[in-house]
Amino acid sequence: MNVFISRSKHAIVLALGAMILAVIGGGGGGVAGEAYALVATGESSSIITARRDALKELTATALITADIRMEIEAADSVAQIQNIATKAIDTFLAGQEFDGNAAFKMLEKVCVIGSRTSGSDGMRKQQELLLDTFEKLGAEVDMQLFSARHPIDGSAVPMANMIIQWHPDRAKRVMICAHYDTRPYPDNDPDPKKRKALFVGANDGASGVGLLVELGRFMKDLEGDVGVDFVLFDGEELVFESQRDPFFLGSEHFAREVAAGALEQRYEAAVLLDMVADKELQLYQEINSCRYANDLVQEVWGVARRLGIRQFYSRRRHEVRDDHLPLNEIARIPAIDIIDFDYPRPSSGRTTYWHTTKDVPQNCSAVSLARVGTVMLEWLRQRVGN
Ligand SMILES: [Zn+2]
Repeated sequence: MNVFISRSKHAIVLALGAMILAVIGGGGGGVAGEAYALVATGESSSIITARRDALKELTATALITADIRMEIEAADSVAQIQNIATKAIDTFLAGQEFDGNAAFKMLEKVCVIGSRTSGSDGMRKQQELLLDTFEKLGAEVDMQLFSARHPIDGSAVPMANMIIQWHPDRAKRVMICAHYDTRPYPDNDPDPKKRKALFVGANDGASGVGLLVELGRFMKDLEGDVGVDFVLFDGEELVFESQRDPFFLGSEHFAREVAAGALEQRYEAAVLLDMVADKELQLYQEINSCRYANDLVQEVWGVARRLGIRQFYSRRRHEVRDDHLPLNEIARIPAIDIIDFDYPRPSSGRTTYWHTTKDVPQNCSAVSLARVGTVMLEWLRQRVGN
């Protein structure tokens, strides 16, 4: 996606506010870990490191409680500390209907393929994997093929949006979508030497895929008169240079087909998922989503509020250009973007992992996928059952 520079001042003010809050609140595992290290003299450095890492992990995923913190501080071996952290995460995940671990495993599996840039071998491998996976779950999968011009050499790049249909007989439909291609390079990496390195897009690419595969397990049994399509867009960012190359090739093609009446299905709403696995999940109401489809934004954030999922913040932040724009502007489908553009939480001295070599599974979390997946499952149940 692309961010409007025009609002950058506003974004900086908000980022500063978040930094101040982080300092006042003493939040962030790093702060807690360092404070502990000062009083824990005499302990081995491996225990201090393990304690700091455990507190950091549980703080990032918002699973830390006063009791767990005390337990970790009282523990006197690395294994014991790690067990406490693992147990807290496993207990949370086991209590969820949506299997965050399974979604995360799919995220990892897709990242193991390597780059999934449009037209690449990696993209073909991913398509085979997903076609097989969704068909086994009972979906009807349509590959919407088209071709795009390569931004550098002008050659034809074969493209495919995957339209994954559940209960295709139902006339009224809603859509959950994500892009499944990855940016060619981590060109935003702070280290210039790494800007031509491998970009695996764990959050920016694989997170939507992992979440949708897991959500697919619930789809066949979803009773009601509304059908659901998952749409995976190709060519969201076959972008080598942000100022020059076009974004959203797949969603634009899809939207034009809808506008031309080439598809049978009629969509009442679309929810786009982008960067939804950040370990430090923060989902604000994105400004373009509010502009085009505010009712839908309020509907989804309302579901999260009722479920007590506090990582969906009921405040506007970030104006993002993403695949939801062609859906709104060309296809006239009310479409919103659920996007965590703070990857990770902004605080002093930290830079974004977006479009860098740090967008890897280790910076993502099954807990975050479970939270977003739970909201999507509940939203679908409400929409489909009505
Ligand atoms: Zn991107």
